[in-house]
Amino acid sequence: MTTETGEHGGAQRILSDPLSGREVIFAPSRTLRPGHFEARREPEAPDEAETCPFCEGREQQTPPELFALGAPKGRAPDTPGWKVRVVPNLYPAFARQQVVVHTPTHIRSLADVSDEQLVLIAESWAEAAERAWAEGFDHLLAVINEGKTSGASLPHSHSQLVWLEQAPPEVAAEAPRLRRDDCALCALLHDLDPALKLAERRLGDSTVSLAVAPTGRAPYELLIAPEDHLPDSFGNSELLAAALALAAEGARRLNAAEGASPFNLWLHNFQGDGHWHLELVPRLNIYAGIELGGGIFINTLPPGEAAARLREAPL
Ligand SMILES: [Zn+2]
Ligand SMILES: [Zn+2]
Ligand SMILES: [Zn+2]
Repeated sequence: MTTETGEHGGAQRILSDPLSGREVIFAPSRTLRPGHFEARREPEAPDEAETCPFCEGREQQTPPELFALGAPKGRAPDTPGWKVRVVPNLYPAFARQQVVVHTPTHIRSLADVSDEQLVLIAESWAEAAERAWAEGFDHLLAVINEGKTSGASLPHSHSQLVWLEQAPPEVAAEAPRLRRDDCALCALLHDLDPALKLAERRLGDSTVSLAVAPTGRAPYELLIAPEDHLPDSFGNSELLAAALALAAEGARRLNAAEGASPFNLWLHNFQGDGHWHLELVPRLNIYAGIELGGGIFINTLPPGEAAARLREAPL
């Protein structure tokens, strides 16, 4: 751990995130700068729901579906009746990039997706993973982008699944830190300040928890993980659904505390050893040269303050 001396003599401690090794500085005084926390979700456009290609009844406006869940037997592909629908991305950057449409009706945030739908969404991710493994791919990157500033192009709640031949750099960088015999995430959860924990869900013998990330790069950054050391979330989609439900609760608390907020959410899953988790990174601030050029993230909201605001937010 190192320190730097501020220009006014104050020392800001540079922290190292135990999962990623990313460097983070908490600098609450920077919230006084103009332009702080300006990014918000765009409101619903007047014709948005009437023209949305992801809504039930407009199946012809997406590429032909790969599969759908929750549909009655005998339903023809690309017709109404589905609960979750998986289609190829119309503008793919990768050989296999898919979109999971989370709901048949026009729901704009994971925060408003029901637990029943989240179970189907987790199942769809697991089903896609099985198909990816069968075709020789080694990693499925699942992400949810909400709001234009987070990179979302369509407001209807959806996730993106990218099939990769190997773990992407962020996952590969975490993997050695999350081995069973010396796992930084097991240690983090074990030693977690109870003030940072927001909620948990139990499923049989397993517990998944939702906490403010102790060394998050962004204000209100959330970490959702099973307390047991489990590498693969796709093998237990009920536990994954519980994690998504906690992410949805985190998003509801965030929206209640700050107004409708853009965010990125992703799953870090491990083939072999590792400890799967979701990371929810609100996009209320804009990353600048120190973050992108230096790799040092300045977070204006200390985790304890973030947790207090999220806990007290009126749901
Ligand atoms: Zn829609
Ligand atoms: Zn672990
Ligand atoms: Zn991670």
